[in-house]
Amino acid sequence: MARTLTGSATTSVARRLEGAPFATEIRERVAADVAAYRERHGHAPGLAVVVCGRSAPSMVYLERILKACAQVGIEGSFVDVPGDDPQTQERELTAAIQRLNADPRVSGIIVQMPLPPGVRLKVVVDAIDPLKDIDGIHPLNAGLLRLGFEGFLPATAHAALEMIHRSGVDLRGADAVVIGRSPVVGMPLAFMLTREDATVTVCHSKTRDLAAAVGRADVVVVAAGHPGLVTGAMLKPGAVVIDVGINVVDGKIVGDVDAASVEGVASAITPVPGGVGPLTGALLLSHLMRAAQRQEDAAEQETASQRWDDDGGGTAGEDRPS
Ligand code: NAP
Repeated sequence: MARTLTGSATTSVARRLEGAPFATEIRERVAADVAAYRERHGHAPGLAVVVCGRSAPSMVYLERILKACAQVGIEGSFVDVPGDDPQTQERELTAAIQRLNADPRVSGIIVQMPLPPGVRLKVVVDAIDPLKDIDGIHPLNAGLLRLGFEGFLPATAHAALEMIHRSGVDLRGADAVVIGRSPVVGMPLAFMLTREDATVTVCHSKTRDLAAAVGRADVVVVAAGHPGLVTGAMLKPGAVVIDVGINVVDGKIVGDVDAASVEGVASAITPVPGGVGPLTGALLLSHLMRAAQRQEDAAEQETASQRWDDDGGGTAGEDRPS
């Protein structure tokens, strides 16, 4: 028997929060924005995916992104940084990102994670233009999130937050537990939830009593990469459970949650596959479109400012375009 957040008993199994319907809504909006952009510019906005050190999962992910780009009319491209020597890879990765930063046909850049062993995330962080950083890893975007302003959010953390919104739970004053403290998923999500007035506990591999923390939570987000980490017995009845994990067990994709035991206790749960993943892909496309529009605005302002300078500084009383 499950209990809702207001305490009333229910006998239903947890609602499955499928990502596909939300992803479709987002892609439809993006496709309309892409068409309008193409009208104005004569070409589509471009998304470049950099893959450093190919692996089977990274190529599957890449194919999915490029297919999703094609569906909405975005020009997707793939930049391969091959090799197996980390120092050379880091140099080539930096050069590839800098080329993409300077390419006006590329509005957004994502670098496939995880990076190969020995290749430092810092290299990507140092190289990427924050205006094209649609997966929110640049310190400027991470800092804007931390300070409560709008930059680019890491897409997976953003997708997890959207799923929480769509579960209908009221985050204000709610206890939320985020399991995982990575800079791309756990920590940004913890800041997003805090910004929405949840009381957030971040757990990690050294947390002494994970079950106690999970047992107090109205919302549990698991992003650990550890199958079966959260079970129904750990949960507060009626909790909303967002499973970000992607693991392969016996050839099957599973999350971090023991779905079978959680279903009878939680009020809502995201399935794996089919939950956070599809929404993450769609949100990346919407971030790309926002990046393209922001770059358009910046270019227009620069042109206006240039015209003002060329005209000798405007007439009396006229403000310089800012
Ligand atoms: P990560 O960088 O490996 O971080 C994993 C985090 O989980 C770390 O903070 C680690 O703690 C913590 N952790 C590991 N085992 C734990 C345990 N037994 N108990 C408590 N905490 C534990 O991974 P990530 O990039 O954040 O990704 C997390 C998961 O999300 C992975 O399964 C990944 O495949 C998946 N993912 C999904 C999507 C999507 O679109 N659905 C996108 C990206 C990633 P320490 O910090 O102490 O090591």
